[in-house]
Amino acid sequence: MLTFDLIRASVHPDGPIEDHGGDGPIPRTGYGDLRVAYLDALDLVEGGVDALAADVAAEDAVQAAVQRDLALDPNGERWSSSFAEPLAFAGGARQVVRQLEICSAAVAESAARTPADIPRFVCGLWPDPVPAARSFAAGDGVVVLVNTGLLAALRIVVQTAASSIRTLTGLPDRWVDGDLPLGYQYGAMSDLLERCRERRDLRAEPIQVSIHTGRADLFRRHAMLSAYCQVIAHELGHWARRRPGPDDTWLDDNPAFQRAARVTRADQWAAPIDEVDEVATSNSENHADAVACEIQTRPPLGPGYPSPSQVIGAMAPWALHSGLWWAEAAHTEDHLGWTHPYPELRLGLTGLRLGQPASELANLRASRPRPVASDPPARGTPADMAMKFQVWCEAMLDIARNREIALERGLEHRTSTLDRFAIELRRGLGELS
Ligand SMILES: [Zn+2]
Repeated sequence: MLTFDLIRASVHPDGPIEDHGGDGPIPRTGYGDLRVAYLDALDLVEGGVDALAADVAAEDAVQAAVQRDLALDPNGERWSSSFAEPLAFAGGARQVVRQLEICSAAVAESAARTPADIPRFVCGLWPDPVPAARSFAAGDGVVVLVNTGLLAALRIVVQTAASSIRTLTGLPDRWVDGDLPLGYQYGAMSDLLERCRERRDLRAEPIQVSIHTGRADLFRRHAMLSAYCQVIAHELGHWARRRPGPDDTWLDDNPAFQRAARVTRADQWAAPIDEVDEVATSNSENHADAVACEIQTRPPLGPGYPSPSQVIGAMAPWALHSGLWWAEAAHTEDHLGWTHPYPELRLGLTGLRLGQPASELANLRASRPRPVASDPPARGTPADMAMKFQVWCEAMLDIARNREIALERGLEHRTSTLDRFAIELRRGLGELS
C-alpha cells in the first residue's frame, strides 16, 4: 500500500525537500496551461498572490510551534526532522505546498484506475480562512482550489481525533478520558468551530499543536493524507464523465442535470428555492462523494478495504461540515443553503462506503441487496471505527446539542426541501428506535 510507503518515505526521506526555485506558494504542476489558469484566478482577486503568500507563511508559525514543543521532549531532537517533512502535516510554508502536490499526484493515479474518466487537473491553494474547496474548468482540464483555512481546520480535527483514539474506540457510556482528556477534545473542537464561524485564522495564537509518536502519529499522518485526498477527489468527482451505477456498473454522467447552483451567494438566496436547482446541485454533490470514495479504494490511495485511519480521514471534511452546519442552525438566523446535501448523510455514507469490506460494499450497490447482517461490526474494524467516529463527532463537535437547539427553534424557512425531508426522516427513525 503506497499510502504507508509515502508516509515512511516522509519519515525517512531519501534526500532533502526539493527547492521550489523561488516559486513561493505557487505549486509546480505538470500542466502549464492549467497553472496559468490558476494564476489568472489568483490575479482576479485584488492582492490575491500576496494574501496567499501571507497565508502560506503562517504555516511556518505552526512548524515553529511543533519544533518548540519537540525541543521540550527528551527525544525531541531525534524526531525534529521527521516533523519538518511534508507528510508530517505539521505546518511549514514549503511543506503545505508540497503536500497538495503529493496528494494531487496520488489522487490522479488512483482516479486513473477508476472508470470515472476524470479530466487532467491541477490543484492549488486559495487564500481564504473559510473551510471550503471548489473547482473550475479551464479548457479541457480542471483547476481545483483548496482554501488554506480548510487545510488548517482539517489538521485540527484529525490531530484531535488521533489524540482521542482511546475515547474513540469506546461508546459514550464507556467514555473515559483518552490520550487527551474529554474536556480537551471538546474544547479543541469548540474553539475550531468558533474560529471557523468568525472567519479567524486557525493558526493564530494559541496555535494548537499535538505531537504524537508511534502508532498514533502514523494514524494521524495517514488520516491527514486521506482527508486532503478526499477533498481533492470530491472536487474531481464533480468533473467525472462517468459515475457509479448499480451492480458495479458505471453510467455516463448527466451534465445537464448535475450542475452547479445557478444561485450561489447568500444575498441571492431567494425563497422559494428553485426546485430544479436544489435537486440538481444536491445530486451533483452526492455523485461527487461517491466518485471520491471509489478513488479512495484504488491504489496508491488504498486497497479495496481501507484502514480505520483512511476512513476517519475521509470522513473528517464532512464531520467539520456537520459541526459548522448545526452550529449555524442553532446560533444564527442565516439560511443554511441548499447546494450541499444534509451533512450527516455525507458523513455517514462516506463511513459506510469506505468502512465496509468489498463484499458488503458490492451488496450495498446491488440492485437487489441481500439482507444485511444485523450484527454490529467487529471491534476495531474500519466499519466499527467509522461508526464510533460519527458518535464522537456528535458529542465533540456539538452536533447533537446544536441539533436539539436548532430543531426546537424550527428550521422551516432556513433549509432546503431535501434537508427538511432528511430531518423529518431522522426524527421519525429516532422515535421508532
Ligand atoms: Zn462539491
